[in-house]
Amino acid sequence: MQTLNWQSLTPPAKSDALARSPLIGDSNLEQSVAQIIDAVSAQGDSALFELNQKFDGVNIDNLRLSQTEIEQSCAAVSLEIKQAIAQAKANIERFHQAQLQPNIDIETQPGIRCELRSEAIERVGLYIPGGTAPLISTVLMLALPAKIAGCSKRVLVSPPPINDAIVYAANECGIEEIYQIGGAQAIAALALGTESVPQVDKIFGPGNRFVTEAKRAVSQDNRCTVSIDMPAGPSEVLVIADGQANAEFVAADLLSQAEHGADSQVMLVTDCEKLAGTVSLALTKQLALLPRAEIAAAALKCSRTIIVDDMAMAAKVSNLYGPEHLIIQTEQPRQVLKSIRAAGSVFIGAYTPESVGDYASGTNHVLPTYGYSKTVSSLSLADFSRRFTVQELSADGLKALSNSVMVLAEAEQLDAHKNAIAVRVASLDANTTVK
Ligand code: NAD
Repeated sequence: MQTLNWQSLTPPAKSDALARSPLIGDSNLEQSVAQIIDAVSAQGDSALFELNQKFDGVNIDNLRLSQTEIEQSCAAVSLEIKQAIAQAKANIERFHQAQLQPNIDIETQPGIRCELRSEAIERVGLYIPGGTAPLISTVLMLALPAKIAGCSKRVLVSPPPINDAIVYAANECGIEEIYQIGGAQAIAALALGTESVPQVDKIFGPGNRFVTEAKRAVSQDNRCTVSIDMPAGPSEVLVIADGQANAEFVAADLLSQAEHGADSQVMLVTDCEKLAGTVSLALTKQLALLPRAEIAAAALKCSRTIIVDDMAMAAKVSNLYGPEHLIIQTEQPRQVLKSIRAAGSVFIGAYTPESVGDYASGTNHVLPTYGYSKTVSSLSLADFSRRFTVQELSADGLKALSNSVMVLAEAEQLDAHKNAIAVRVASLDANTTVK
């Protein structure tokens, strides 16, 4: 990891210090993903079979898992994994169930009733990454809120050959439709529909840069009307640590994100140069023991340690970066938290490693990356439903509001709008006169 002193950097060097891996914006990526989407649009299932072979090296006869295949996968999962899934599921369910919001129904003034209602999105597509690691936990993060929100059609896709524990977790969360497809082609299939894959209204889930670019592309594609949850791309973490932090803990947290992919990024922001040095030594030691050392080492190459003057500056740097995950390991972490404005999910104190949020504490691990945490929220129950408003006015309510609406309509030169009020007021006045 490159070490930089924040105060000594020029403004352009500060931007460079907080820059992500450039891969996502590259035009080749856009072009190759566009070709994949076009192939799925033109050839449907046959393109999916071909791309499964090309990118995942897998030849399968049926994209959709049969009931027998689901049962076989479930039976192959160990009791230990089933128990771990059960505990994670209970916590994630509890936290997302608590997010259910009552509808709003109020009178803004006498005779004017306004409501805000929420309705589940009907057909949702859930992408479970499986390229370099089968993300079993992502099944819980997507399928549980989709079920709690009441989405009636829940379709899950994951690269072939699909992992048994992914199938088991999906089955536990009430998912009946599971397809073995990954990457941009899976996103295209969900957005456009094919002979065997149903079209959905909204696509959820994290993924590598092909998946993330495909989600962006289909959400702007005229051939379909599909929305997406957020740009949840390659993982990143920023750790704010002071001289009190445990260097071994900090190094372990940095590596837990670095091992996701070569395009993941990890940042250490500290006011203590000594700690930065000890973390660096701990990184070398721990990295050597990791089975995914090669991936993590590649991620560390585009990662940085930033030395700041104090915790106020650390919070400022973190806000500028807008990390997906933010870990605060300082003497008074909640004090630092007060200055945090942008982060997907925050982990407080020495005993809250990011791994707990990844799997089982209850919070959702689908989070905005690339600095989108400044404007995009972390995934929650609300993302699985849409809000709409209802209003109802009594005759008195309309009369009380009529003048303001007619004045504004006239000022906007929209006479038909004004007339829709005027004809009613005239009718009400006529009735009153007759009586
Ligand atoms: P993945 O399922 O996202 O991608 C694998 C697929 O990529 C393959 O099935 C293949 O079809 C496609 N692919 C691979 N090489 C390709 C190529 N050259 N051209 C076209 N398509 C190609 O799995 P992954 O690769 O392991 O990535 C998972 C990602 O998800 C990681 O980057 C991880 O950091 C990220 N993640 C993010 C969050 C979040 O909330 N932001 C959460 C969990 C995971």
